[in-house]
Amino acid sequence: MKKPLSAEELLYRLGLVLLPVLFFAAVFVALSGNAVFGWIPACWVYERTGLYCPGCGATRAVAELARLHLLESFCYHPFVPYTALIYVLFLLWETLRRRFSALRPFPIFPCIVAGIVLLVLQCVWKNAAVLNGWNPFFVL
Ligand SMILES: [Zn+2]
Repeated sequence: MKKPLSAEELLYRLGLVLLPVLFFAAVFVALSGNAVFGWIPACWVYERTGLYCPGCGATRAVAELARLHLLESFCYHPFVPYTALIYVLFLLWETLRRRFSALRPFPIFPCIVAGIVLLVLQCVWKNAAVLNGWNPFFVL
């Protein structure tokens, strides 16, 4: 009987399959300019409450990341460049691990926990900034 794939192996294969898809999607978004914002509806939570939901700013962050504007992407939604960084590091690490078996598996769980903490903190920050009259997007 065939041994089931480990979580790392499954994620690695999925990451490799998604790599060209994400690359061409990023090129498409980068070349489409600000038109991409017209294709996605405005945030339901923000429109009704004036407060930011955990996903607010992610579209702009993805567009800025696709244009390789890392600071702008981070300011709009730090979770987006963080996730992209972890994705690239994971693929590199697991590729090296397949060549040099002395490497331990990539620490996925701590990265997921850190991502969730970052997601919550950026949402708290943005809403605290709005309520206090500060700029929720730092330097932008
Ligand atoms: Zn939102």
